[in-house]
Amino acid sequence: MMQDTLLKVEGLKTYFYLDDKKISKAVDGINFSINPGETVALVGESGSGKSITSLSIMQLINKPGKIKEGSVTFNGEDLVKLSDKQMAKVRGNDIAMIFQEPMTALNPVFTIGNQIMETLMKHKKLSKIQAQKRAIELLKMVGFPRAEETVKEYPHQLSGGMRQRAMIAIAMSCDPKLLIADEPTTALDVTIQAQILDLMKEMKEKFNTAVLLITHDLGVVAEYADRVMVMYGGQIVEDTTVERLFTNPKHPYTIGLLESLPSIEKEVRRLGAIKGTVPPSHSFPTGCRFSDRCPKVMDKCREIHPELIPTETGHDVRCHLYE
Ligand code: SF4
Repeated sequence: MMQDTLLKVEGLKTYFYLDDKKISKAVDGINFSINPGETVALVGESGSGKSITSLSIMQLINKPGKIKEGSVTFNGEDLVKLSDKQMAKVRGNDIAMIFQEPMTALNPVFTIGNQIMETLMKHKKLSKIQAQKRAIELLKMVGFPRAEETVKEYPHQLSGGMRQRAMIAIAMSCDPKLLIADEPTTALDVTIQAQILDLMKEMKEKFNTAVLLITHDLGVVAEYADRVMVMYGGQIVEDTTVERLFTNPKHPYTIGLLESLPSIEKEVRRLGAIKGTVPPSHSFPTGCRFSDRCPKVMDKCREIHPELIPTETGHDVRCHLYE
């Protein structure tokens, strides 16, 4: 493993064993790494396997799901092999996560202050007074002007954007080395979205936190990520820098996603630029998993499953067109 790699995911397979004996291959053999301070985006439509990837990294897969194979090496340690207790420590200290809907992660019966303080007392071993002082500092840092009052407020008293700021304060309270942000702004309106993403960027620069940004929005990727992986059918189909993805996209799925982006010239978002929907992960087509939707499909695509191959330095693509 390269010395500066923070997270290395190798051969990760997370399957769900359904009642009717079908196996849903939600994540099916993915490999990637993240370096300290780097922002890597994982992009795809819903059902592509992005969120299951993040939950697998956090070891939050419950029955009927299971990590079937592979490793998730973080700071030299394979998280898949850790006990629940050891993993709970990693989750509080080194890896933090923020979700699309902060209400699901915030506890409605505790004040915002209590929720930040709890993390600080548990993981940073601060006293109650020290934790309260730090909670106020953190809330100020994420943009609460009256932080002394906000600590006494409950989640329902805050707007969606403010709740997401509070989640970021909780996530950053332990100076995590890796922040996993799963669609952090999808539920928010556009202006607040930009504010939250700018705040995440600011926090990342301040603490040199690496970020795994999970999103379906390539506009967000262009603005905030260094590297991007496009996911489809539980696998990575393109992996490159953000610049290359936008200037020289290779996979037909990526090209379709880019064509669905709104632009000033087009005025209107061309929804549905990619026909059809992601196939269910228990019944992928034989051969290329994108073959039923691909405008460039060839006979070979319906029979042979393409491997992820490097096409130029740091630009990998899973498509027979590039073999
Ligand atoms: Fe399209 Fe074939 Fe490439 Fe799959 S392998 S993306 S079907 S051209």
